[in-house]
Amino acid sequence: MPWSIFNRPSIQLGCLKAFLEKEMRCQVDTFHPYLNIAEAVGIDAYRRISSNSWAGEALFSPLLFPPQQDKARELFSSVLSKKEQSHLHFDNLVDLIEKTCSDWINVIELNQYDLIGFSICFNQLLPSLYMAKQVKMIAEEVPIVFGGSSCTGRIGRSLLHHFPEIDYIVDGEGEKSLLSICRSLKESPQKPGRQENPAKSHESIIRTDEIVDINELPYPDYRPYFNEIAQIFSKVPIIPTLPLEFSRGCWWNKCSFCNLNLQWKKYRMKNAGRMVQETAHLVQQYKCINFTFTDNTLPLKETDDYFKIISRQQIDLNYFAEIRAIHQPERLKLYRRGGLSTVQVGIESLSNSLLQKMAKGTTVIDNIATMKLCAENGILVEGNLITEFPTTTNEEIEETLTNLEFVLPYHPLTPAAFFLGHESPIHKNYGKFGINAILVHYKTKKLFPQRYHKSLKHLVNSYRGDRTLQHRRWKPVYQKIAQWQSFHKMRKNKEKPALQYRDGGTFLIIRQEYPTGLPLQHRLKGLSRRIYIFCHTPKTMNDILINFKGLKEESLVTFITELCRKRLMFQENDRVLSLAVHHTT
Ligand code: SF4
Repeated sequence: MPWSIFNRPSIQLGCLKAFLEKEMRCQVDTFHPYLNIAEAVGIDAYRRISSNSWAGEALFSPLLFPPQQDKARELFSSVLSKKEQSHLHFDNLVDLIEKTCSDWINVIELNQYDLIGFSICFNQLLPSLYMAKQVKMIAEEVPIVFGGSSCTGRIGRSLLHHFPEIDYIVDGEGEKSLLSICRSLKESPQKPGRQENPAKSHESIIRTDEIVDINELPYPDYRPYFNEIAQIFSKVPIIPTLPLEFSRGCWWNKCSFCNLNLQWKKYRMKNAGRMVQETAHLVQQYKCINFTFTDNTLPLKETDDYFKIISRQQIDLNYFAEIRAIHQPERLKLYRRGGLSTVQVGIESLSNSLLQKMAKGTTVIDNIATMKLCAENGILVEGNLITEFPTTTNEEIEETLTNLEFVLPYHPLTPAAFFLGHESPIHKNYGKFGINAILVHYKTKKLFPQRYHKSLKHLVNSYRGDRTLQHRRWKPVYQKIAQWQSFHKMRKNKEKPALQYRDGGTFLIIRQEYPTGLPLQHRLKGLSRRIYIFCHTPKTMNDILINFKGLKEESLVTFITELCRKRLMFQENDRVLSLAVHHTT
């Protein structure tokens, strides 16, 4: 269902179709109604709506709960900027979506199926609930299953309790649970698990073992998506980006704000050989060369092996991936050679004590090194700075503001206000983070009638604590990030890094751009040059003294302090990093 990114097939549907057909020798049809909606509202409008987590849900709220129309419209306008809203008329869009859904459902022979399922991830809940209701009106006897990350744990149970259209909830990984439902339905004419009141039935919530070795899974089957896209967008050439799954879960799995791994019990990954074969299959089958890894964070060792093989092939592949901070230049160089062009790095903060509260397992210098080394290797960094984190102190704000001056030359981050993820470590220990009470989110209240509020509070949590204080405290950070973004937007020669050096063999020249005035030039000669190059990756003061025999500690401290003052180096305790990107032109 909408609001999936329209130029990508659903990996969930692709994997489940391939798995069920292999295991049961049954026929699985998959559909991507988000394509029909994208065609109806227009690609540009669809993009704008789907990039906001609330706007799309708001459009389906009045279809499911007509009295919510005014509140949903209000929410829709409040979450989109004026520019984003231009040409998006809420009531017209609601009507258009209703008609498109109705046209779509009326051409499908729903009663031919033994089971109909919805895979629900971000921003797909209300659209799926609405469509499930429409399906039940036409195919009353066909059981409906909901699964996906938005149906995990208590959220799934509350959905089952409130919405009689749902017969089963898959809680956790889909493959084996869906298989067990299909087998039960095949074997038992009574369709076990379907009860008069499903809210009372534990059999309606299915959670089976996970696949132990995900290398054994078949390749995802994206053929139905390609057939649909060819029909719906016959006049607009669209080359989709294909999702690629290396691992399930997260090998770190400790961040205090994170609830992205609730649906997995164990961390598992495919091996590099299997991934290379899967990629080759997808390239050949679908004639696509753009990929996006679905992993929460790539597995390091296997990714190294994967890109070693991929970089030797004569194919111009292109990838997006989410990674944790990586500050090994060789590794990033290899990934870039293999085709990794854009990464979302879990930067999250430029304050060390905040990073500790977040349990990121990284420090500010690691984050800055990753930003610099990605820039040096031509990898675009898309990252967030979590703002308004509960318990943030004035000192942490000061530290963030200071460190923002050191990252000015790199691609700007985006501020993302803290939200309380259901069942995240912070949610489970909220008292430790100055949170007094968990509340229903005010945006959820606009989407759902009151009778749902209490039990659907798990959907998106709000809280009572130091929110107002934090909102005020973080204002200078928002301003500084806006200046950072504007600096990069206004720069003329974007091919050149804003802070770069060129090496003259016995000296080097650093060119440093600022938001105003002409670029500054700095020349470092002899030992200064060599120390600067040595600190290409974070080094301790001791590392430097050992490497440069005879160098006096006092002189080194003076040198480092001076270069930090000029924002040419960064120091964190006894670790230092050169900030200029090596650029040869
Ligand atoms: S935020 Fe990312 S790195 Fe941290 S636990 Fe979650 S998925 Fe893992």
